[in-house]
Amino acid sequence: MDIDSHYIRPVNHPHVHDPALRFCSSCGGPLAPQRIKEGEPERPVCTRCGHVVYLDPKVAVGTVITDDDDRIALVRRSIEPGYGKWVFPGGYVDRGEVPTVAAVREAREEASLDIRLDGLINIYAYAGAVPIVIVYEASVVGGTLDAADESLEAAWFAPEDVPWPDLAFRSTRDALRDHRRGLIHRDLI
Ligand SMILES: [Zn+2]
Repeated sequence: MDIDSHYIRPVNHPHVHDPALRFCSSCGGPLAPQRIKEGEPERPVCTRCGHVVYLDPKVAVGTVITDDDDRIALVRRSIEPGYGKWVFPGGYVDRGEVPTVAAVREAREEASLDIRLDGLINIYAYAGAVPIVIVYEASVVGGTLDAADESLEAAWFAPEDVPWPDLAFRSTRDALRDHRRGLIHRDLI
């Protein structure tokens, strides 16, 4: 799944000009950016019925999965954005799904690994970006690392071999860096 897929966009009124937001979902009228309240971003407003579209962030999860040799599981993306770049398994949380459950699901779908979550590393969010990314540390309890959904290949990396220049997203780099410096909240899962 594409964590960070709507990566950094121009700030101030991100997504107002998204082509998916041209028409009102209530009446089909054209939407236009409008500032409803001072100090808040412009929002798409229906020029016919006045319906206001409130754009929410998307919640994503990722897992830094280690094996008994402290190697880290990474997958190489077969889709844009970040085609050909490395990322840890992760993806979007479905509505109504608990983030920890989504993390375990994505590890199975993307890397063919069964995991146990060991703690929260951190939560990553960036100005102008849509996703808020929750990253856990995890251990392998079953399965064999294998490229699956949306991956060209999958591999274990020793800490000193992490391909830092070829990581897909800012959150990938930041979470791996935090993991390397030992950041983990074991009580937050
Ligand atoms: Zn309307």
